[in-house]
Amino acid sequence: MSMSDVDHEKRKQISVRGIVDVENVSNFKKTFNRHLHYTLVKDRNVATTRDYYFALAHSVKDNLVSRWIRTQQHYYEKDPKRIYYLSLEYYMGRSLQNTMINLGIQGACDEAMYQMGLNIEELEELEDDAGLGNGGLGRLAACFLDSMATIGLAAYGYGIRYDYGIFAQKIKNGEQVEEPDDWLRYGNPWEKARPEFMLPVNFYGHVIDTPEGKKWVNTQVVFAMPYDNPIPGYNNNIVNTLRLWSAKSPIEFNLKIFNDGDYIQAVIDRTLAENISRVLYPNDNFFEGKELRLKQEYFMVAATLQDIIRRYKSSKFGSRDHHRTDFDSFPDKVAIQLNDTHPSLAIPELMRIFLDVEGLPWEKAWDITTRTCAYTNHTVLPEALERWPTSMLESILPRHLQIIYHINFLHLQEVSAKYPGDLDRLRRMSLVEEDGEKRINMAHLSIVGSHAINGVAWIHSEILKKSVFRDFYEMTPDKFQNKTNGITPRRWLLLCNPNLSDIIEEKIGSDWTVHLEQLQQLKQWAKDPSFQRDIIKVKQENKLRLAQLLQKDYGIKINSASIFDIQVKRIHEYKRQLLNCLHIITLYNRIKRDPSAPFVPRTIMIGGKAAPGYHLAKKIIKLICSVGNVVNNDPIVGDKLKVIFLENYRVTLAEKIIPAADLSEQISTAGTEASGTGNMKFMLNGALTIGTLDGANVEMAEEMGRENIFIFGMTEEDVQALQKKGYNAYDYYNKLPEAKQCIDQIQGGFFSPSNPDEFKDIADVLLKWDRFYLLADYESYIKTQDEVSKVYQDETKWVEMAIHNIASSGKFSSDRTIADYARDIWGVEPTWQRLPAPHEPRDI
Ligand SMILES: *Cc1c(COP(=O)(O)O)cnc(C)c1O
Repeated sequence: MSMSDVDHEKRKQISVRGIVDVENVSNFKKTFNRHLHYTLVKDRNVATTRDYYFALAHSVKDNLVSRWIRTQQHYYEKDPKRIYYLSLEYYMGRSLQNTMINLGIQGACDEAMYQMGLNIEELEELEDDAGLGNGGLGRLAACFLDSMATIGLAAYGYGIRYDYGIFAQKIKNGEQVEEPDDWLRYGNPWEKARPEFMLPVNFYGHVIDTPEGKKWVNTQVVFAMPYDNPIPGYNNNIVNTLRLWSAKSPIEFNLKIFNDGDYIQAVIDRTLAENISRVLYPNDNFFEGKELRLKQEYFMVAATLQDIIRRYKSSKFGSRDHHRTDFDSFPDKVAIQLNDTHPSLAIPELMRIFLDVEGLPWEKAWDITTRTCAYTNHTVLPEALERWPTSMLESILPRHLQIIYHINFLHLQEVSAKYPGDLDRLRRMSLVEEDGEKRINMAHLSIVGSHAINGVAWIHSEILKKSVFRDFYEMTPDKFQNKTNGITPRRWLLLCNPNLSDIIEEKIGSDWTVHLEQLQQLKQWAKDPSFQRDIIKVKQENKLRLAQLLQKDYGIKINSASIFDIQVKRIHEYKRQLLNCLHIITLYNRIKRDPSAPFVPRTIMIGGKAAPGYHLAKKIIKLICSVGNVVNNDPIVGDKLKVIFLENYRVTLAEKIIPAADLSEQISTAGTEASGTGNMKFMLNGALTIGTLDGANVEMAEEMGRENIFIFGMTEEDVQALQKKGYNAYDYYNKLPEAKQCIDQIQGGFFSPSNPDEFKDIADVLLKWDRFYLLADYESYIKTQDEVSKVYQDETKWVEMAIHNIASSGKFSSDRTIADYARDIWGVEPTWQRLPAPHEPRDI
């Protein structure tokens, strides 16, 4: 149980983990024992390791409480502009270590646990991830919360407290099996329920005209119960709030059945209403028009806007004269950021409240709404864009559909005023799509209802302007912006790679944790043999630790001198895990053709979840596992090549894998990946990237220089040209014998001898229906991979490139991203303010 003395001494030396003082340690031990006794009701004879984890978590949470209360008091008194981030997803991962780091108490907690004979690393492993997200979009929201608290914004995250987060992925016989993620089973020590702030949300019903205007009546009510989660800033005593809503049935739910005498059935049916917050939809970059999902989106938005307006009304600006609230200052005191279109019902809901509840005239309501809301687009893939059938809106949200129609009426009037007679443009720009089933285009609604719309990387924002939203850009060019994504350097370096953090601190101090651009200074040691040795040593240690973990979990012997070549992200055709797979098969065929030829050893790891209904993505997982089976068990291959499918990729696994990577695979078809943030995590941890000129890769290459990254394949313009000309996969298949061999093997059952047809559909897609042009990039990809192997043999050159990667990653801090949102969209300045610590006087 107890950590080895050597490990403990090593953790203690790492100064970024906080100063350890005897009094803090002794107090912390007392708090821990108090929680074990009074909160968990255990003594040390019967306590389980999970009890110790909870006692530790509660003790750490105690350190947040005064800062949390005082931060909220500070906001109430100073009444700064509030920033509201609305997202259906928050992919938070674990909170324990992050909280200790941001509060600067990790050293003290370490020491306290050690003195009590407990292994803190073992306890940390017992925390379930808060997996309330699918992938990049949800993780971005989590990084943004950390940065907003760190740069001192009065920010609030709003979302849904799903009972079940993203499913746990099991691999059985090479296939993905989904298991429900019952993350709340043992309780959540970080959250605080606020039943006193429960709010009603209405569904269904109909609209009537009254002398006072439209009224939405005869609705079914579901209550939204808020759960508050603390978001500590880094080392600044600020603690912001992430408020997640959980659905609660009203007492009188199904009163009719109750009065009919079926009391039992009425009570059982209460769960129907509570299903709204039951489970996260597991699609990434895919729209599935399910009624329950629409209810989730409206549930979150309706509860959140009531909260925002209540808070505005309680401020001095919102205070009422003659029973009427003055909303003129609303856009100066409130900014609402929509994380994709998922919360875009906020626009018609704000209008409904202003018109029907607060009695404002349309023009005024619309002016306030558009000056308050801003929309972030996250994808250009057509299958991902939300287009809700009007029939569904009409039944669930009849008043909102009326409002959307009127927004559209006025919007199309403006379009025809500006472009008289251009009927095709009117059709293209309408919020209502009339071809086939009548639908509302939620991206169009979001653009029209916002003062700012942004893409998430330079190339993505350019594509929005020149193709996806071209008409809107022509009409209102000033609305369109770019905000290149970022990641929090606290979780993605300080927390996950303490040894790298430590050698960076030795050189440049610790300011980089909040001013990541300071990593630039490391360039002066890029050629320094002693610094190079340190970087190589840290990477080697990280690789060894991962190798041991994988050997334990997968029973595969791993050559830790091999290139750790890693692609981890959601499984999707556009991300081209299949292209990676073609490279693996190509390497295998080369080894088999000439087993004695020189070969630079590789361990290729691929991980990620497939949406449960995405059959091809699940087939791709099976193919990777099947290829792995052949490669890993072929004695001719030996330890030259190993293939591992990493099970259950999630935030916690990312933290273990990324610090051990040599090579990061970012190989989406140019023009398809909006930004990517996985790419940034690898760069910050000293992996080199092989990638296309897509998403943020473009800006990464610009920051580090093309000589420090392996760029291959078509540019976005090349892709456009190929699309225009017409793509024929057979052109490449017939010309490239190595590619032909791979596809013939997939097609012919080489990797599935017991079921030769198993992967025929994959070969079919590659040759006939491939929307992502894998074979057009195959030759360039393979050649560039050969270059990777060549450079890897030159250890000095490789580590020099790695140092340039780390040193150039400053731009990709989410602190920079959030500072840009603050200044250009929200109209607030990052303060980087510190509040006094709880033991310090309040006014400093
Ligand atoms: C960062 C992250 C992602 C996003 O990865 P991309 O490569 O940008 O798609 C997805 N899942 C997890 C768990 C992450 O940490």
